[in-house]
Amino acid sequence: MLGKNIINKYPWVRLAHTPTPLERMDNLSRKFPGSQGTINLWIKRDDCTGLALGGNKARQLEFYLGEAHAQNADSVLTTGAVQSNHVRMTVAGAHKLGMQCEVQLEKRVTNRPAEYYESGNPLLLHMMGTTIHYYPFGEDELGADRALYDRAEVISGQGKKPYVIPLSQNHKPLGALGYVLAAEEMLLQIKKTELDAVVVASGSGSTHSGLLTGLRALGCSAKVYGICVRRSATLQKPRLLERCQQVSTMIGHGGVVKDSDILVNDDVLEPGYGRLNSATLQAILSAGKCEGILLDPTYSGKAMAGLIRLIQEGEFNAGENVVFLHTGGAPGAFGYPELLKLQ
Ligand SMILES: *Cc1c(COP(=O)(O)O)cnc(C)c1O
Repeated sequence: MLGKNIINKYPWVRLAHTPTPLERMDNLSRKFPGSQGTINLWIKRDDCTGLALGGNKARQLEFYLGEAHAQNADSVLTTGAVQSNHVRMTVAGAHKLGMQCEVQLEKRVTNRPAEYYESGNPLLLHMMGTTIHYYPFGEDELGADRALYDRAEVISGQGKKPYVIPLSQNHKPLGALGYVLAAEEMLLQIKKTELDAVVVASGSGSTHSGLLTGLRALGCSAKVYGICVRRSATLQKPRLLERCQQVSTMIGHGGVVKDSDILVNDDVLEPGYGRLNSATLQAILSAGKCEGILLDPTYSGKAMAGLIRLIQEGEFNAGENVVFLHTGGAPGAFGYPELLKLQ
């Protein structure tokens, strides 16, 4: 019901293959038991949303590109890291809807080998024939957005009708609505009284805030752990709280998320965005060996490392149902040849 109301209120287009499966991870559950006994680990397969190899951005783009479509835009502009999955999927969605796309790649991660710039997501951008601009700084969200709007003005002057998907906190979190819908979808797959926790990568916070707000609006009190992949917990927490307040107001459930609902954890973030650490390497290998699940070094691998860390710290009780939300990202792994050394 919640989802229907949202789709009636905000322009939406179908892009994602949903519902995505909710599967058990029995092998991983046995490999990493809680301190009191085995936990029931599940995986929500949002790596399988389709749209040029899938990932969490498909659900978010259903609202951004829905608005672009409703505004009769003919061009879409967005920004992200060189190995951005968001940029890849934005291009795919725009092209599918008959719009052109121009993207801006930010140099967020330095000192990377050639594969980082040429394989994985950048390779896929070339295959879709998009226009690529570069932005020289990595930690300047506002500047990156400004550059996008400047470019939009230029192409407006050429008679085009651009639509910008910005990244900074200064815009309405339309994409998070996709994860309010995903929360409703998940509660059709597992009872709200049986769901104990969800663990998810927390980057811009759209996925984390949408899911948390959706679950609370639907009367589910499961804990939602955001594993920081972009910035420290100290910076991510207020960002998430603001996002949840915006999203809950947008869906007519203002105030449904409390301060104490915001759980962010940056134990596996170092040495920073897009940079590997040994916990993440081990998590990628464990998921691959135990479950045949492919994770990436920047997002889903770190989220899995965060989940394993929480289990080892005794955060979950035996028999609890804990869902790992797989946000995708495996195409980005091709930019990390150091994964060849995994064993
Ligand atoms: C973008 C992305 C995330 C982070 O999602 P946010 O909604 O920005 O927090 C996580 N995993 C993958 C694979 C992504 O591409």
